[in-house]
Amino acid sequence: MTTHLNTHTPLMPVLFVGHGSPMNAIEETAFVAAWRETAAQITRPTAILCISAHWETEGSFVTSMAHPKTIHDFYGFPDELFKVQYPAPGSPELAKRVQKLIGSTAVRMDEDHPWGLDHGTWSVLRRMYPEADIPVVQLSLDRTKPPRFHYDLAAELFPLRQEGVLVIGSGNLVHNLRLIDWGTDGPYPWAAEFDSLAAEFILAGEHNRLVDYPPLGEAARLSIPTNEHYLPLLYALALQQPGEKVAFFTEGVVYGTISMRSLRIG
Ligand code: ZN
Repeated sequence: MTTHLNTHTPLMPVLFVGHGSPMNAIEETAFVAAWRETAAQITRPTAILCISAHWETEGSFVTSMAHPKTIHDFYGFPDELFKVQYPAPGSPELAKRVQKLIGSTAVRMDEDHPWGLDHGTWSVLRRMYPEADIPVVQLSLDRTKPPRFHYDLAAELFPLRQEGVLVIGSGNLVHNLRLIDWGTDGPYPWAAEFDSLAAEFILAGEHNRLVDYPPLGEAARLSIPTNEHYLPLLYALALQQPGEKVAFFTEGVVYGTISMRSLRIG
């Protein structure tokens, strides 16, 4: 075994996690078990960069506080969920690195700013890294920009994979709250259709079809009524290298309209 300092460092994998209901933070589900198992299979990251569906801004922002607070950005859930804290440290260094990689377009938010870790991040990380001892930084979604912008910006983050950073997109491939049916377990036909079609494109590496999704028709329109839960998927895909494998570690559509498909690249 070689121990030279310049030994090639293996690339960190990249994840997209279908986070679904915030209850996954406290309920034992098959999804949660798979998240945990996936984390156990990955080299321990030096830090985590999360792109959550739940942080949309005008312009790009990156959390740079040393101690990001746990944000409970939902309502109508049990008290137990509001009591959850995920006290992972932040990383001003990683925030600076992200800012540099994407051309300083992201505004850094330090201790005085109102963001921290939203449930798109902590509901997943609490299951993957329950010790909360790995620094976490969030990068916001600029709601003024088209999907192509997000895909291209994400590609700029590639060096992080060489630096031990785990990049996680947290959203849902199919996400329609207006049509959600909490009483059903299976998918509406259009949800199943788009989820399968997207899975095919993902496995075939046809990212352009996924970035430019409106031509995919009615199933796409119903699956992505607003794109904040879909865009984190594009962040993960943009970091895939040619020939690199991708595997799904959870799948299934719940409540008719929420795809729980998650993937690992590398
Ligand atoms: Zn969500």
